[in-house]
Amino acid sequence: MDLIYRYDPFAPISPRQIPTAEAAVDNLLEGNARFIELVRRMQRHTLDQTNQEPIIVPISPIAMGLPLYEGAVLTQAPFAVVLGCSDARVPTEQIFDQSFNDLFVLRIAGNVLGSECLGSLHYAVKALGESLKVVVVLGHSKCGAVTAAVDTYLSPEGYADIAYTFPLRSLVDQIQIAVRGASRSLEQYAPIFQHNPDLHRSFLVAVTAYINSSITALELQRELKLRVKNPPQVKFGIYDFDSLRVQALPLESSAPPQLRDAPSSPEDLCQYSNEVVEALFNLPDEERDSCRLTIKL
Ligand SMILES: [Zn+2]
Repeated sequence: MDLIYRYDPFAPISPRQIPTAEAAVDNLLEGNARFIELVRRMQRHTLDQTNQEPIIVPISPIAMGLPLYEGAVLTQAPFAVVLGCSDARVPTEQIFDQSFNDLFVLRIAGNVLGSECLGSLHYAVKALGESLKVVVVLGHSKCGAVTAAVDTYLSPEGYADIAYTFPLRSLVDQIQIAVRGASRSLEQYAPIFQHNPDLHRSFLVAVTAYINSSITALELQRELKLRVKNPPQVKFGIYDFDSLRVQALPLESSAPPQLRDAPSSPEDLCQYSNEVVEALFNLPDEERDSCRLTIKL
């Protein structure tokens, strides 16, 4: 299968137009859909090599956020801030199929908030506010930081190495409130987990990833409202390894990508936590099983 990047210097130049938060979110979700389609086409080709149709991707320096001529330097003008996890399997620009100068990216293990992270965000909102339309918190499934937080919650005695290492502990501690929220929402299904602690751990990690992102989004929205006039909207979601999709609830495989507004209150957050668990248990068995922790983290 050929993947061809084609630049036509005589094609009309159309600079990026993202005037609103809705347009920014649409751009991110459409980019994620393009990324999924590209990966799926390559995977289909692996199984069926008779389909030789090439994929042609039109490119131009302008569309890529690069200068048209040597020596020119563009002004920084991202349309979104994305706070994501440091996990090497979750490269922000590729997942959203975005290019240079599109995203202002902050990556911290477990996508938790710290003072330097907030400082970077304030800089982005104050200095780049003209182009910036949305802030996105992006967690991901099977997150190592979330798994460490879940494991310290389930069996604290086994995690002295984390407890006595301040930087690690401060990171894991920040996720604990999400773990407790997820655990409470899963209580109604306790009989299912009674003889299967591994399944309980897997589901706790899966649900906590959503809750952790939503808590960070809530905190960020509050922080921005306190400090910035006309703050940008904060959205959140997680990147799911199985579907390759950005989503704010466990979804069936055919559903399109989605992001969700930051919760506006702790009550809103509790309701969301229950909604995640309900959506997870409404999935067909084989899709729900994909959240099992089958890989070593
Ligand atoms: Zn992670």
